[in-house]
Amino acid sequence: MPKIFRLLCSALLCLSPALAAAQSRPVVLKAATVLDGKGQTIRNTIIVVEGSKIVRVGGAVPAGASTYDLSSLTVMPGWIDTHSHIYHHFYHDRYAGSDEPPVHAMLSAVDNAVATLNAGFTTIQSPGANEDKDLREAIGRGLIPGPRILTSLEALYDSSGPPEKIRQLVRERKQQGADFIKIFASASIRDGGKQTMTDAQIQAACGEAKAQGLRVIVHAHSDSSARAAVLAGCTSIEHGAYLTDPVFDLMVQHGTYYDPNVGLVLQNYFDNKSKYIGIENYNEQGFAFMQKGIQIVLDTFKKSLTHKGLKIVYGTDANAGAHGRNYEEFVRRVREGGQDPMAAIVSATSLSAESLGLEKQIGSIAAGMDADIVATDGNPLQDITAVRRVVFVMKGGKVFENLTPGSKTPPAAK
Ligand SMILES: [Zn+2]
Repeated sequence: MPKIFRLLCSALLCLSPALAAAQSRPVVLKAATVLDGKGQTIRNTIIVVEGSKIVRVGGAVPAGASTYDLSSLTVMPGWIDTHSHIYHHFYHDRYAGSDEPPVHAMLSAVDNAVATLNAGFTTIQSPGANEDKDLREAIGRGLIPGPRILTSLEALYDSSGPPEKIRQLVRERKQQGADFIKIFASASIRDGGKQTMTDAQIQAACGEAKAQGLRVIVHAHSDSSARAAVLAGCTSIEHGAYLTDPVFDLMVQHGTYYDPNVGLVLQNYFDNKSKYIGIENYNEQGFAFMQKGIQIVLDTFKKSLTHKGLKIVYGTDANAGAHGRNYEEFVRRVREGGQDPMAAIVSATSLSAESLGLEKQIGSIAAGMDADIVATDGNPLQDITAVRRVVFVMKGGKVFENLTPGSKTPPAAK
């Protein structure tokens, strides 16, 4: 190429034909089984992706497309975990504290993000840590791989102050860049789960958040704390170990989401007991509460399934040691909780997307949606443990994982 032409070319940013084609070239995912995220199964189809979006499901393969053959797999929308403490991790085999170098802390958070994405979760909601903000932005800019992150930043507690102060903190969180608000309306399950915030504090948080256009997710184990949150117009009840039939009825009436966390968080504390024991309320008494709690939350979840119209979202409450195993919630819900596997998939896709206010962007496979697509080696409708074998992960049209079926070894508890 003559020098003058090269210069002209770079000045005009004229691309080689091959490069130009690569940028606009559609990507086709060939699938035999697609669970669309809304309860339907689509057979023998193609999903056409252009840029970050799904542009079409079905029809003819467009000219010049690059194709991924996923026909031996089960294809679904990327999963959503509505409750993952993505920043939490270990340092020197202990739950990380203030003695940890900040670089180690952030690298560990990145490790959690990569593990979560590779496990099939393309979106998570973190309630919350201030460090989430940097992680959210780094992932959003494509600097590091990871799920899309929504964060509450620091949560609000009964000790946060009187109602007026709570309102001010809600406005402050919004200014700091929080995507939603997280409040603790009850004690931890390790401390019995009784209501801690007053009804007035709960009303202040949820009322002000609504005025600011933010959702509120509420840590509430006891019946009274959950009831107050539902009546205050809060968005979702997290954990809810001691919820009763009348409160579930009230939640159905108000359209309040329920996030039960039955399959990972408590089990993970036992998997990693030596790393937690001795920290705050992670004492022998706390572990004894959690041992009982495993059965209690499962029984409450089973009870919740009898309430038609109750919107059960998919959250794990993943803490240090649990990231990358977020799918265990599916396994326990279906195997031991008796949830229908399709309902569990819908919970982790379109229903969780709706709870985040993102139902027009993520959570289903249809034209116009973000191309967040995962595929499992095996069909979870027939064998729920197939959720442990995600071998294909696309987020926003970009492929992050594409493994040979049979090659995935699920990570052990770490
Ligand atoms: Zn939590």
